[in-house]
Amino acid sequence: MKIFVVNAGSSSLKYQLIDMETETVLAKGLCERIGTSGAITHKAADGRVYTADTPMPTHTEAFEAVVYAMTESPAKVIDSFDEISAIGHRIVQGGAVFSGSCLVTPKVIEQIEELGAMAPLHNPAHVLAIRACIKTFGEKIPQAVVFDTSFHQTMEPKVYMYALPYEYYEKYGIRKYGAHGTSHRFVSHRVADLEGKDIKDLKIIVCHIGNGASITAVKDGVCFDTSMGFTPLDGFMMGTRSGTIDPSALTYIAEKESMNAAAVNEMCNHRSGMLGISGVSNDNRDVCKAADEGNERAKLAVDMQRYQILKFVGSYVAAMNGVDAIAFTAGIGENDADLRSNVCANLTYLGVTIDEEKNHIRGEEVKISGSDSKVSVYVIPTNEELAIARDTLALIS
Ligand code: AMP
Repeated sequence: MKIFVVNAGSSSLKYQLIDMETETVLAKGLCERIGTSGAITHKAADGRVYTADTPMPTHTEAFEAVVYAMTESPAKVIDSFDEISAIGHRIVQGGAVFSGSCLVTPKVIEQIEELGAMAPLHNPAHVLAIRACIKTFGEKIPQAVVFDTSFHQTMEPKVYMYALPYEYYEKYGIRKYGAHGTSHRFVSHRVADLEGKDIKDLKIIVCHIGNGASITAVKDGVCFDTSMGFTPLDGFMMGTRSGTIDPSALTYIAEKESMNAAAVNEMCNHRSGMLGISGVSNDNRDVCKAADEGNERAKLAVDMQRYQILKFVGSYVAAMNGVDAIAFTAGIGENDADLRSNVCANLTYLGVTIDEEKNHIRGEEVKISGSDSKVSVYVIPTNEELAIARDTLALIS
């Protein structure tokens, strides 16, 4: 059985074809510049690659290019899309409407569209992709949607509410929703598997640290709290996002610089974080390199991010009254041994020790805590596509 996983943006479309018997990737690819020029890069698991510049005025033409790449190109992996049992879409915002994955129906499409106000860069693009799939493949291939937010729907009101006038929660749904839920769910369940325990018996902190980054506290097998909020801007500083700051600082800057709400939003989302502080780059490798070479602002950016991560970890230890396991994942979490060492060096009060040899193993699941550590610490490569494919398979089974 094969599942096709789609992660659509407004001008891009990432995909993977996964064989569910072996849970291996048969092919993956990326369509870029949808709406303008159009290009596809398609890679088969055996190393064959197909690339082409091909007009993609809409997502429909992008899917047509994917069909060609998968079934006819020199890097083809299947004879026909009839071999595909279902399509699973990653959806960024499910609001309070979706507490789990579900099959696509006209009503579901409408609800995802309505939630677009809370994820204007993402949800409308997901809807375009779902509709393009219906157009390209008809109704014969079932489609499922898997939400970044649904894992966080178990948070209690005391956790997800903001202390703003209650009417804005009622009128506009202003509250914490979180993000990266598919990754947090996948990684926390892997932690439980590796610990050989029921996830319900563990207190776990998952640090998903990539260009976008969030930390989640998992208790009784479900999300208890998470660092991202109403939008993925909240939490600790990221590549270009500020994370949590005093809103008065923003109104002050807005007044001084004559910025409207959209300009403030743009500043916080695209010109802040590691990029804003270092002035070097949003990319962690570039910032760390500059810091090592003596760039003071780059060093400050690195120090700030690590300190903020540490504070979230500490606050979730307090919120859960303890922690059994901490996991690092995503681009930085999986690859930056120095960041992991640095954060864990400040967790000795919990009895955390790190085996530095294991901490430097790359590209695989590894328990990096020392044999005497009171808390297990893991590096777990995240696999959101596999999680989406598993949910999709479960829904059609
Ligand atoms: P993601 O958004 O999960 O793809 O993560 C992207 C981030 O991971 C970027 O900031 C990269 O600089 C960072 N990253 C990737 N590889 C490494 C590495 N070997 N060392 C440090 N950071 C890395």
